[in-house]
Amino acid sequence: MELKIAGLVNDSIVDGPGMRFTVFVQGCPHHCRGCHNPQTWTFEGGRTESTQEIFEEIIKNPLLDGVTFSGGEPFCQCAALTELADMILGYEGFKMNVMAYTGYTFEYLMENANAENGYLELLKRLDYLVDGEFEMDKKSYELKFMGSSNQRFIDVKKSLAAGEVILAHDPWDNIEIKLL
Ligand code: SF4
Repeated sequence: MELKIAGLVNDSIVDGPGMRFTVFVQGCPHHCRGCHNPQTWTFEGGRTESTQEIFEEIIKNPLLDGVTFSGGEPFCQCAALTELADMILGYEGFKMNVMAYTGYTFEYLMENANAENGYLELLKRLDYLVDGEFEMDKKSYELKFMGSSNQRFIDVKKSLAAGEVILAHDPWDNIEIKLL
């Protein structure tokens, strides 16, 4: 399947726990004031790569702890990212977790999920989700992996099982991921 991307980073330590491969997708409908990546807003820009090509790039780096879908808005390309997540989670060479950023809230995605948009299928593949738009007046440099204090670092598996948001704990120090 084809994915519209803005770029790829193969050794990020700022897009989630550990060392991560980050896929920046192209296209975002949120247009948050103060967004760091406004070049990813247009759905016309970026470039197209297949999920297979991206997966082959990912598995070149055995030091990775996981893969992050960032943007842009990953939930505008759920079908391709679900396919890519399945490749990552099924890979037997080394274990990786999967995380996404979204400008939607977890509650919005759950309430609006349907077969056409594929929100739930992508959520089911995720270990972590950072949700909510970037809010300039809540911007903070103290937050770990988040830009503004309205955003939440969510344990998706636990949240889906509980039917409500459960915040994630840092896998290394076992504290709730909020502050640096
Ligand atoms: S959701 Fe993210 S990429 Fe989209 S405008 Fe907001 S900060 Fe930028």
